[in-house]
Amino acid sequence: MATVMDGRALAERIRAEVKEEAAELGELGLATVLVGDDPASDIYIRRKHEAAQEVGIVSTDIRLPADTGEEELLERVAELNADDEIDGILVQLPLPEHIDEARVIRAVDAVKDVDGFHPFNAGQLYLGRPTLVSATPIGIMTLLAAYDIPLSGARAVVVGRSDIVGKPVAHLLLQQNATVTICHSRTADLARETLDADVLVVAAGQPALVTVDMVKTGSTVVDVGMNRTAAGLVGDVDPGAMEIAAFMTPVPGGVGPMTIASLLRNTVRAARFRRGVLAFPHA
Ligand code: NDP
Repeated sequence: MATVMDGRALAERIRAEVKEEAAELGELGLATVLVGDDPASDIYIRRKHEAAQEVGIVSTDIRLPADTGEEELLERVAELNADDEIDGILVQLPLPEHIDEARVIRAVDAVKDVDGFHPFNAGQLYLGRPTLVSATPIGIMTLLAAYDIPLSGARAVVVGRSDIVGKPVAHLLLQQNATVTICHSRTADLARETLDADVLVVAAGQPALVTVDMVKTGSTVVDVGMNRTAAGLVGDVDPGAMEIAAFMTPVPGGVGPMTIASLLRNTVRAARFRRGVLAFPHA
């Protein structure tokens, strides 16, 4: 039976650390921008604000109607860029279809980009000089480190190649000297790849995509999936894999809480960059 990688408990410890670090830096500000009223986005945003307030970060919740124009949104982002009291800016995705998401992401000042989505920050990660990295991948790496999962020389398989989870976590694993394979919807034989994985990270958004027979005995399984089904919130990996793996994250209570804690940590990091405690390379 696998050791359950308890993201909830670790996230609580990180939040306590962040609270102390934030207090040392003075008043920190995190702004979120939500366009429209997508219920899932609303829940995520509310959780982020609750968590920020709990650690003493002043959070600003900007809500704009679904028909907000691209230029108007860009103006709001520019105001936040210029606001000295804001250390971190997070534009909740997805944006409505009439808005060019990539343009909005580029408009966020890279030093305040606590989501790590700006091409400058994504490029820094690609080059192996991470500045601000998106919260879910950082949270996953923190969990792996907390459970002393060996990565150097390990075979790591990432299922999913999104810009916010799959690609960045693959780069972070590579930086830790894992041999990394990235799988996606066109991968010819997914089971053949996953069965080879010492460390398997699944971020596909497909309930039970990874079945018990696809998991290597004694491996570490990180299930990023959050799928709302009639049976409740489920991951991308059949929970029966707990019988096969040595370490595995539960859903819920694994990666999810780590994402929010890592966002708070990113806000502290952004504040350190802005205050010159850490040097931010020029964007
Ligand atoms: P995306 O939809 O952006 O990407 C999904 C990826 O999975 C794509 O690369 C896709 O391949 C791949 N994929 C889809 N179906 C298959 C399949 N049958 N076989 C192999 N690969 C497949 O999702 P995200 O990366 O944004 O999120 C993934 C999951 O993680 C979701 O459930 C999401 O809710 C969850 N999530 C959880 C977070 C947390 O904090 N716990 C945070 C962020 C996301 P292709 O590129 O070929 O289409």
